[in-house]
Amino acid sequence: MSYDPDNIFAKILRNEIPSTRVYEDDATVAFMDIMPRADGHLLVIPKTPCRNVLDASPEQLSAVMQTVQKMGHAVLKAFDADGVTIQQFNEAAGGQEVFHLHFHVLPRHEGDRLRPPGNMGDREQIEEHATKIRAALG
Ligand code: 5GP
Repeated sequence: MSYDPDNIFAKILRNEIPSTRVYEDDATVAFMDIMPRADGHLLVIPKTPCRNVLDASPEQLSAVMQTVQKMGHAVLKAFDADGVTIQQFNEAAGGQEVFHLHFHVLPRHEGDRLRPPGNMGDREQIEEHATKIRAALG
């Protein structure tokens, strides 16, 4: 399986399509999922190409996990959450739909249920949630 440089997250990295970024460092970007399964649902990706965990380098994994942890703390604070769900899928059979490594970060509250996948979120509401997350990052 090779990396397709025209996947949607590669286009987001090149700013060829818009995204709502909440955090960025030398190696990673975090941006809001357009079909949020929870308020504050975001994605963390490496800036360099790899399909998923199976072909990622130790450096890519390390950088992405550090940002995942940072964003986990940020969404906990931003949404006064009780927990955080981290999801990650590998290849189509593993549930992956976009073939650039990404981790889902979802703030959770006691007793809540994730919304079903595949429903576009409200753009204004996603922007509001992004503002809260940026504020929580300080
Ligand atoms: P996965 O590959 O982990 O199964 O899912 C890909 C995720 O990317 C889904 O949660 C989907 O909502 C999200 N997604 C798909 N296309 C876009 C897009 O163009 N922009 C953003 N921000 N998220 C996307």
